[in-house]
Amino acid sequence: MRRIGLIGGLSWESTSTYYRLLNEISAQRLGAWHQPSVLIDSLNFEEIVKCQQSGDWTESGKILAESAQRLASGGAKVLAICANTMHVNYPDVVGAVSIPVLDIRDAMVHEVRALGAHSLSLLGTKYLLEGDFYSSHFERASIHVVKPSPMQTQELQEMIFEELTQGVVKDSSRERFMEIASDCQLRGGEVVGLCCTEFGLLVDESNASWPFIDSTAAHVKALLNF
Ligand code: GLU
Repeated sequence: MRRIGLIGGLSWESTSTYYRLLNEISAQRLGAWHQPSVLIDSLNFEEIVKCQQSGDWTESGKILAESAQRLASGGAKVLAICANTMHVNYPDVVGAVSIPVLDIRDAMVHEVRALGAHSLSLLGTKYLLEGDFYSSHFERASIHVVKPSPMQTQELQEMIFEELTQGVVKDSSRERFMEIASDCQLRGGEVVGLCCTEFGLLVDESNASWPFIDSTAAHVKALLNF
């Protein structure tokens, strides 16, 4: 069995979901006690948040690259960065190790195609929505991206940092999230992309009539398929 290495703590709330899903999906596929070999390098999220706030992507790239090296020396044969936003540093991580790093954006493209969709309502942090390292990946795969307005982006940012990454889940935020998602769907999204690994704490498909793709579940499936 090949050992999976997780660059975690981005935040720990979603890393725990990765760990749970890796084990649950393995059990469904391979039997009750079949658990994958997993190494987690859990980072201090405060250091990453400081880099995000100051735009110091060089420093965050170093932190993630060192994490990748620790996991590779611990015997990991495949790596995942357990967050969408921090794929801004995907090239730094890939450059630091000689093992594959499974890209969450590829996992999302795979799921969008599996649903036969050609457009995605992209919901995530402001760094992900304002930069183009994430959306350009979809445009290159001929998947049209619909983004929230700047005001809605700010609201999502607050939900992620003031609530979800601190384990706070509010009904009022769930309702507002659904309104923002619905607005993006009306503007042409066929599928809602939960492109923040904490959004699954807030919503799932039972909350809406459109398909959702949860980036955490998509990434976990890609790891297990590998
Ligand atoms: N987990 C997050 C994501 O998927 C947000 C926290 C962060 O900025 O790393 O983008």
